[in-house]
Amino acid sequence: MSAIALGRLSRRCALLEHTVLRPGVFLDRDGTTSEELGYLNHISRFRMLSGAAAAIRRLNEARMVVTNQSGFGRGYFPEALVLEVHERLVSELAREGARVDGVYYCPHVSSDDCACRKPKTGMLEQAAADLRLALDRSFVVGDRAGRYQPDFVAADLSQAVEWILEDNRR
Ligand SMILES: [Mg+2]
Repeated sequence: MSAIALGRLSRRCALLEHTVLRPGVFLDRDGTTSEELGYLNHISRFRMLSGAAAAIRRLNEARMVVTNQSGFGRGYFPEALVLEVHERLVSELAREGARVDGVYYCPHVSSDDCACRKPKTGMLEQAAADLRLALDRSFVVGDRAGRYQPDFVAADLSQAVEWILEDNRR
C-alpha cells in the first residue's frame, strides 16, 4: 500500500452516533401537574396547578407525564376525554413556554394485571425506548408514594424540580 493510499485511508473516519442516554423526569398528572379530582370526567373540570408550567419549563431533562386512567377502563368516561385532557395539558403548558416530551397513560384496572399501571414500570420503559432515556438516572414525581419510600418529599412540583436540578449537579 502506498503512502498516498494510506493518507486516503486515514481520512475515512467514522463518526460515532452520540448514544449517551438522557435522564428523564416522569411526572404524575392528577395532583402533580393538574388538580386531583378523583376521576376527571369532563374537560371543563381540568385545572393546571399553579406553578406547574414554570417548574416543567426549568427541566432540561426529557419530561414525560405518566398517568393511570382506570376511569376509562371502568367505563366512567371515554378514551376521547383522556386524549382531550392531554391535548389541553400540552397546550396550557405551551402557553407558558413549557413542554413535555410525551404523555403516557394506562387505561387498565388493577385486576387486568397489565404491565403499565403504576407502580409498575411499563410506561417508564416504553418512554425510555421511545426517547432513549437512562431509567437509572431518571426521576419520578408524584403526589402519592404508594409502597415506595421517596428520596425527597416536596411541597409542590416547583420544589421537586429544584431538588432534581440540585441532584443532577452533584
Ligand atoms: Mg396523582
